[in-house]
Amino acid sequence: MSSITLKNYINGEWASSNTTDYLDVINPATVEILAQVPLSEVGEVDEAVQMAQAAFTSWRRVPAGDRIQYLFKLKALLETNLDDLAQTITMECGKTLAESKGELRRAIENVEVACGIPMMMQGYNSENIARGIDEFMIRQPLGVVGIICPFNFPAMIPFWFMPYAIACGNTVILKPSEKVPLTLQKVVQLIEQTGLPAGVVNLVNGAKTVVDALLDHPTIRAISFVGSTPVAQYVYSRAAATGKRAQCQGGAKNPVIVLPDADIATTTRIMADSAFGCAGQRCLAASVAITVGDAQQTFTEAIAEVAHTRTVGYGLDDGIQMGAVITSDSKTRIERLIQQGIDQGATALVDGRQPKIVGYEQGYFVRPTILQNVNPDGNIAKTEIFGPVLSLIHLETIDQAIALINQGQYGNMACLFTSSGAAARQFRSEAEAGNIGINIGVAAPMAQFPFSGWKDSFFGDLHGQGHHAVEFFTQTKVVIERWHHWTRQF
Ligand code: NAD
Repeated sequence: MSSITLKNYINGEWASSNTTDYLDVINPATVEILAQVPLSEVGEVDEAVQMAQAAFTSWRRVPAGDRIQYLFKLKALLETNLDDLAQTITMECGKTLAESKGELRRAIENVEVACGIPMMMQGYNSENIARGIDEFMIRQPLGVVGIICPFNFPAMIPFWFMPYAIACGNTVILKPSEKVPLTLQKVVQLIEQTGLPAGVVNLVNGAKTVVDALLDHPTIRAISFVGSTPVAQYVYSRAAATGKRAQCQGGAKNPVIVLPDADIATTTRIMADSAFGCAGQRCLAASVAITVGDAQQTFTEAIAEVAHTRTVGYGLDDGIQMGAVITSDSKTRIERLIQQGIDQGATALVDGRQPKIVGYEQGYFVRPTILQNVNPDGNIAKTEIFGPVLSLIHLETIDQAIALINQGQYGNMACLFTSSGAAARQFRSEAEAGNIGINIGVAAPMAQFPFSGWKDSFFGDLHGQGHHAVEFFTQTKVVIERWHHWTRQF
């Protein structure tokens, strides 16, 4: 791919940004420059919002059954272009091709569920709530909504929100991560091919300036955000200051308990995928394994073996099990945190720093790393590393392990590996996290369920996906109606 200059998509037109400020989009494995992304200006956000508001006045009147026809077309286009999109994700984001295809499947799933909007958006009614009076609740779209995305799932995350927003009759401004803007550019080109009316979906590239302009714009009614916790918190409060609805998904530190009655071979395979898949850059990556009883020895030996033998390299090459991390800064930060863990008393059972990846010596790679005897109260047990690093902590009982989990700042996911139904029942009832896995390593809800982060992993009320998305992107209107019998003419 030769380097290209990316454009914004406003009111059905691709337009060069007015800015002179551009960032390089870099392939993290090859360090090749793929594109230049504009850091758009406040005026461009305003123009996109005005166009989206103009489009809203007619789009909201299109029947829901007609609106979803564009989504059926989009699903077909995403399927046809899946290989090309997957390649783009891998090139700009670093994950393996299989992981990129998996992420696209989750995106498509959300389109499929949003095709059910005509039913999901239904209200309810009661006849004769008083003599001759009927009452209805109907759902109506909000207007223009902003969707702000992180780097780690360039295709999937916009789809937690966008299909639902437009199917409900809203119009949308998409803001991709400036680190991975190519995938969404291609997705919007496919949206254009569906014939969706101009202004319903708009794309504005950029960084903080664009985000702040979206948050402050008086016409925007709602903000969907996914990213790190400090930014999620900031977006939530700044959106609220101008009276917007906001759903802000933040960072995570996901603990997993391994009980001695778990099947260790299966647990190890699943845990390796969770901790090292996408190079640990998943908000649902297992980052702390708490072993109980004999699992300390059996699980530790098995996971160390897998970490040693993981094949790391460029995600487009055959046989690669783990790709690069996103930037040089990320690599430096991950390696610094590993050192901090060691300085605080942990042992690097497997140390993945400064690997030599033949053919990709300049790439941003960190190999799988296992830190043993991590202090549960230390920084490394609590900080989101967002890299392929698994910390091991040993405790004597499941009660102690659940208590440790519940002290945590985050609540995105917690998992348990066991063959005991009673232990599983206790865990799912008591663990303080919004997504729970029992013998599952990445408890990512399917599109028909909400992506339920808790605590500092989520700010807001209604989450992305499924019914929550429909509620988030609609406002309820209650109509109380009386028709006097003397209005009858026949
Ligand atoms: P990030 O917070 O750096 O960036 C997210 C978005 O916010 C980007 O579009 C970016 O341009 C914008 N942004 C960054 N700094 C900003 C600022 N100061 N003011 C306004 N806007 C700003 O996140 P990231 O590094 O792209 O993504 C990784 C993070 O996202 C991790 O913490 C991960 O756990 C989290 N994440 C969470 C979920 C979830 O569902 N909870 C899913 C995926 C990723």
